[in-house]
Formats: sequence, structure tokens, C-alpha cells
Amino acid sequence: MSARVLDGREVAAALKDELRAEVAGRSLELAIVRGGGDEAAEMYARRLGALCEELGVGSRVVEVPDGASSEDAIALVSELNADAAVTGILVQLPLPAGLDETAVIAAVEPAKDVDGVNPENAGRLYLGLPALAPATPLAVMELLRRYDIAIEGRRAVVIGRSNIAGKPLALLLLREHATVTVCHSRTADLGAVVREGELVVAAVGRPGLVRGDMVAPGAVVIDVGTNVVDGKLVGDVAYDEVAEVASAVSPVPGGVGPLTNLMLVRNVLRASELGA
Ligand code: NAP
Repeated sequence: MSARVLDGREVAAALKDELRAEVAGRSLELAIVRGGGDEAAEMYARRLGALCEELGVGSRVVEVPDGASSEDAIALVSELNADAAVTGILVQLPLPAGLDETAVIAAVEPAKDVDGVNPENAGRLYLGLPALAPATPLAVMELLRRYDIAIEGRRAVVIGRSNIAGKPLALLLLREHATVTVCHSRTADLGAVVREGELVVAAVGRPGLVRGDMVAPGAVVIDVGTNVVDGKLVGDVAYDEVAEVASAVSPVPGGVGPLTNLMLVRNVLRASELGA
């Protein structure tokens, strides 16, 4: 068997057109709160700003200066909470050393929390109420939806239980009526558990963790992992082996990745609707 490729770039292109049309005529703005000095974080903020511009969403970067206290950073966030022009706020980590990142994130007004990490949004997701969910699990759900992959009644195995990927993804899959198992670093006999999955999502950060012999024939495998090996971006899934047994698999790069920031920008739109 040779698996169908779940092409995130193709989905992203269609989604961009849809988002542009949805955004047109609205006044939306994303504020990115960040510390200085981290090159990767700076590049990420620039890319996100460029994507916002491409889609017709405004953006601004608000720097937390070195030497600022947690109270100073919370005051910056409070100003953005009160600013009617700002529809979404993203607190980009790392903040300058010594700051209480949890407290700064918790200060974001839940209706503007486009990263979906504020305890209120996490709680709303848990309760099955309308919520802003984190972008990465939303990207996985979007990929499944665009390829018409059935979720209801199917056995889903999520590998990874972080607050930004595995855990919210498990809740989103549960909301769509999958039977969900969540695996992590202490899971005994990972292979046996993964083999039970009709949908398998790897969100770990270990290259090649999911091997061909761990996957049930015909399963759908989504690779969230991003790892750099010998200067190349690879996922958590041993792609060639898994593509021999799975019915569909998402590649890295070109799978979940191209959709993640789009989901964040879509959350800016959703935030404006929730807050309206
Ligand atoms: P994280 O916070 O480090 O969480 C990793 C999870 O994997 C943890 O729950 C950990 O278990 C589990 N784990 C570690 N080793 C394992 C093993 N051998 N077997 C089973 N589970 C294991 O990472 P994250 O932030 O969720 O990110 C996960 C991956 O997704 C990373 O590669 C990251 O770069 C990538 N990512 C990609 C995108 C994208 O847009 N494509 C976005 C976000 C993240 P414990 O809880 O027991 O420690």
C-alpha cells in the first residue's frame, strides 16, 4: 500500500483564500508581546506579521524590555486588553529571564487569547464550550477535515500530552466523538498502543519515533513533530516505512506546519467574533 499524502501546503493555499475573504472589511489586529534577543523567536514574529499582512490582518509587536518586572509585563498586556483596536494577543516565549511567564499569559483577556493557552480557554475547551484553542491541534483537525477523514467512532491515539499540542488535541478529537488514548514518555509498550489507533497523531519531538511496525494497516497518521536532523527538518514519523502501511500520512515539512500559523490568524478572526 502507498499512503495518500496529506498535503498541508495545498490546504493552506485554499485556506488563505477563504480567510482573506472572511477578513475583508473587518478591522482586526494581532498584538505580539515578546522579549528581545532571541533570534528564532524574532524570526517567528516577523513571519507571523508577514502572514497577517498577506491576509489583511493588522499586527504590532510590543516588546517587553530587558529588566522589566512581571508587573510591568502584565501592565503591557492589560493595556492591550483594554485597546479596542487589538483583537488578538499572543505572548511569545521566552520572555526576558526572571519573568513569571504563567502570570503574564494568564493576564491576557480570554476573549483575545488567540494562542488558547489562558486557563479560561483551556477550561472552556475541557468543558466543551466555545473556546479559542491552540493553533497546532487546530491545524491537525483542519487537515483531517479538509481530507474528509472520519473521526466519529474511530480509535485515535495521540502521542504527546503537552498543553499546546497533545492535550488540547485529545479534547478536540473527543469533541468530534473519537475514542481517544493519550500516550506520553511513561507509556508502556507504545507500539502496542499505537497499533490500536485508526488515527494516530505524533506530537513528541523525537525523530523516527513512530515506525512502520507500530502502525495498523490502513491507519491515518499525522506528524506534528518538528526536529532538525543533519540540518534537515524531519518529523516524529519514519515516513517511508509508515507510508507503506498507513492509508494516509502527513509529511514533514509540508503537513501540519503550513497550517499552524494560519490557525493562529484564524483565531484572531474568531476572537473578534467571540468578543463581539
Ligand atoms: P513537549 O512539550 O516537549 O511535549 C512532548 C510530549 O511528548 C510530552 O508529553 C512527552 O511526555 C512526550 N514524549 C516524550 N518522549 C516520548 C516518548 N519516547 N514516547 C512517547 N511520548 C514521549 O513538545 P510540544 O511543544 O508538544 O511539541 C511536540 C512536537 O511538535 C515538537 O517536535 C515540536 O517542535 C512540534 N510542534 C510542531 C508544530 C507545527 O506547527 N508543526 C507546532 C508546535 C509544536 P511527558 O509528558 O511524559 O514528558
